[in-house]
Amino acid sequence: MKKILSSPESPIFLKGRGMEEDKAANALIGLHRQIVKYFYSGKSRDFKAYSDDSDGTIVKPVLIVAEQGGSNAALTFLDDGMGVEIGYPLLTREEASDMHVKFAMAHELGHAFSLRLANLINMPGLSGPRMEVIADLGAVFALIKSGEQWGDIMSAVRSGERIIFDSRWNGDHPPAADRVEYIKGLESKSLSNVESFTEQVQRIIRKVPINPF
Ligand SMILES: [Zn+2]
Repeated sequence: MKKILSSPESPIFLKGRGMEEDKAANALIGLHRQIVKYFYSGKSRDFKAYSDDSDGTIVKPVLIVAEQGGSNAALTFLDDGMGVEIGYPLLTREEASDMHVKFAMAHELGHAFSLRLANLINMPGLSGPRMEVIADLGAVFALIKSGEQWGDIMSAVRSGERIIFDSRWNGDHPPAADRVEYIKGLESKSLSNVESFTEQVQRIIRKVPINPF
């Protein structure tokens, strides 16, 4: 069973165990707002998933908790756009801190704007592991801009193995240790503006293999 927890038009806040669901829903709204601000000139209508033009499905700051879901997150279709679905097991897991949950949601939003980011670094048509890493890097930028601290994000990233990251290759997702290294390649000072961020992203993405091993 799935339930829509919250959207800007109709916020519905429920309390859960683990990270409180209303906190997760609010964090998602904050992340979405910053992505729209920095990458879509503040126009939320232009934030389309997997697209860098007017085609594509609009991404909305809607959090869906899948009660039967796994311990992960994903972009998911709504009636009128896409939102982020999070598995109840991740939300309620003892080892999963609030920042782990926020990172998982930010990574999914990172997928939604990764094509735009790929165009900004002049590497259009990215796919595979590079698309995963660019989603991680975009996630960190969105988290910083929504007010999270670099140290807090990095400690969640470093402890993310078996919580939000897999130990080994999983599809196009590189192993946790590699993802941590790529993310560490971002320097906190590079996150002050889009230009210095995209420079760092370009440098890091070049080191990521094109195909999973
Ligand atoms: Zn991913």
